[in-house]
Amino acid sequence: MPKVILPDEFSFCFGVERALEIAKKYMEKGEYFDTLGEIIHNPHVVAKFEEKGIHVINDPEKSQKNKILIRSHGVPPDIVEKIKNLGKDIIDATCPFVKHAHESARKLVDEGYCLLIVGKKQHPEVIGIQGYARGKGHVVLKEEEVDKINLKGKKVGIVSQTTMLLANVKTVIDAALKQNPKELRYINTRCSTTERRQNATRELAKKVDAMVIVGGKHSSNTNRLFEIARQHCKKAYLVESYKELKPEWFLDVETVGVTGGASTPPEDVLKVKETIEKINTRR
Ligand code: SF4
Repeated sequence: MPKVILPDEFSFCFGVERALEIAKKYMEKGEYFDTLGEIIHNPHVVAKFEEKGIHVINDPEKSQKNKILIRSHGVPPDIVEKIKNLGKDIIDATCPFVKHAHESARKLVDEGYCLLIVGKKQHPEVIGIQGYARGKGHVVLKEEEVDKINLKGKKVGIVSQTTMLLANVKTVIDAALKQNPKELRYINTRCSTTERRQNATRELAKKVDAMVIVGGKHSSNTNRLFEIARQHCKKAYLVESYKELKPEWFLDVETVGVTGGASTPPEDVLKVKETIEKINTRR
């Protein structure tokens, strides 16, 4: 049976836990609402909310309820306005780290900086940040994307999606500096939770024979942990549930690192740990 090692943080991050707590408090008071997008990227948790009548909507107009919850990813200001104009109340569960990214983007644009947002264009958090930048940010991830923007002699401001790797941010900063801007101002909007988890995953992956990342396959931060695990460990797997574990993954394996994404419930990670601990690893 393999030895399973968990890092100190392996489950919900601060922002997700906070959003779930906020939701719970309203439900305890008997006040029901819909969530704009999934409250967290975890199909099991979302299904539990659905059972209680909390529906996921993608457009505030589709809600039959008086209250709408904004999840930890946040939304652009025009969506906030839209909800208000519909006469509905907002339950704001936007993570404070995401709010910092919103405020930083707005400030840089207001101060006349040409704004680069390091992130993925379609990510809901980036759409929110871009909204606070009044649509004036350039969303970039690769050097060649920065090369296409004229930054020579300009004041350049940089923020990032909270879950970005430091390496992605450095790529963009280096590419921007190559163009000789008049000034480059970087505001660190990466979230400390993400950084700690990524570091812990990297260290764990280096010392075990196999790594298992537990979390929603559509979760950006879970996928990043998987990416890091794969870079440092030959056998790395991503699962949503213990049911996906395959005994053959653990043949001749002595140590397994297990961790979860920021939207993974602790019980899901612990169930994976217990299941692996019972697998026979001998041929
Ligand atoms: S990963 Fe960080 S920024 Fe995102 S919700 Fe969690 S604590 Fe907030």
